Amino acid sequence: MARKIGSRYTVHQVIGRGSAGTVWLGEGPDGPVAVKLLREDLASDQVLVGRFVQERAALTGLDHPRVVGVRDMVVDGDDLALVMELVHGSDLRSRLEREGVLAPQAAVSVIADVADGLAAAHAAGIVHRDVKPENVMLDLAEPPGPGGAPRAKLTDFGIARLVDAPRRTRATRIIGTPDYLAPEIIEGLEPRAAVDIYALATVLYELLAGFTPFGGGHTGAVLRRHVTESVPPVPGLPDGLWRIIAECLAKAPASRLRAAELADRLREQLPALAGLPPLVLPAQGRPPAEEVPTPGEAVYAESDAGSGAHRRRRGPAVPLVPAPAPDSTRDTHTSLRRPSAQELAAYAAESRAQRAAPASAHRRGRRALVRRRRLLAVLLAVVLLLAGAAAAYTAFAAEPPGGSAAPAPVSSSYRPVPTPPASH
Ligand code: ADP
Ligand code: MG
Repeated sequence: MARKIGSRYTVHQVIGRGSAGTVWLGEGPDGPVAVKLLREDLASDQVLVGRFVQERAALTGLDHPRVVGVRDMVVDGDDLALVMELVHGSDLRSRLEREGVLAPQAAVSVIADVADGLAAAHAAGIVHRDVKPENVMLDLAEPPGPGGAPRAKLTDFGIARLVDAPRRTRATRIIGTPDYLAPEIIEGLEPRAAVDIYALATVLYELLAGFTPFGGGHTGAVLRRHVTESVPPVPGLPDGLWRIIAECLAKAPASRLRAAELADRLREQLPALAGLPPLVLPAQGRPPAEEVPTPGEAVYAESDAGSGAHRRRRGPAVPLVPAPAPDSTRDTHTSLRRPSAQELAAYAAESRAQRAAPASAHRRGRRALVRRRRLLAVLLAVVLLLAGAAAAYTAFAAEPPGGSAAPAPVSSSYRPVPTPPASH
């Protein structure tokens, strides 16, 4: 089923579905291309279309071997399409899910490639803002890099910015996936190049350890950890590599490495990492938090048609079987409500209290309950005693010396029950 996109492109077959739209295998004047047709609601958003046109020059001008090139951007009637270089391979998330953690050398080689792509983008004044394994493509058509690692390319440049139109993300909203969000974004600062470095170091951590440093549980808790907690160390990682990761996960953006520096420092590590097997960490079996939706989740996750709480991956970019199963549950552009300072402080206090002494807090609670119950019992006993004493006193005081009770004064509303006559 062929379909025309603009005057220059024809698409034939769906090769992937993401949160921003559907990706088609297509044909252009210069050969095969991948065409991402943006979702209908995005395509009909005039603000977004305006931005799309504005960004065209910047995005199509970003030409680097470690970036999935945007060849063209088409506005055609109701269609809004990004025409991209066609990559023969799979995304890094699929690879991670299929094969688990990478050997340190392969992980470092992949991340050094992405850092090269970022360096080119940052030099051109473009911040990616959505660096994560889903947006890293592994190009299987290229000869592999060090340790047989596939060569990597960063994709989806500008998509976060496009979707982050002012109307969509008012002051209370932030764009990004919680696990990879730099603390300054959570605190409401304008995302600069350093947010991509933070996200990329998070991806490296994940490739090595099998989980992200601050992910897991309620979205609010993930955001709080980014802002307040230090990075949990990865046991068994060579010191030099750990220092690079820790530097790039610094809370202060200015303390992080620049992209080109990061690529160089990572490549310096490569010889020492040769032959190291993938790390086996006890926490590797930790269930992905997003598989366990928490009650508060709905407060933070926008019920956007294209985003969902669950992440699912699909197969290779150019599938071996035609048309993969529809997958509209990816959360590439999660939109979150930014928690207020008080909320973040409350999360911090709550989790500190829980971590400090969850068991003793529970015992303290039980002891207080027992104390309250005892007090209540004593009070009840005192009241009963006093009532008994008062009743006894009244009965005693009302008894005349002769023994027969004097007739009680009868109020107008009181009629005594007539006493039956004595029967004998
Ligand atoms: P979104 O970012 O909107 O969630 P993606 O960019 O991840 O969507 O695209 C969905 C899928 O389409 C990818 O996982 C991949 O399989 C395929 N895809 C995307 N871009 C390309 C490309 N340039 N070449 C080949 N396949 C691609
Ligand atoms: Mg994407």
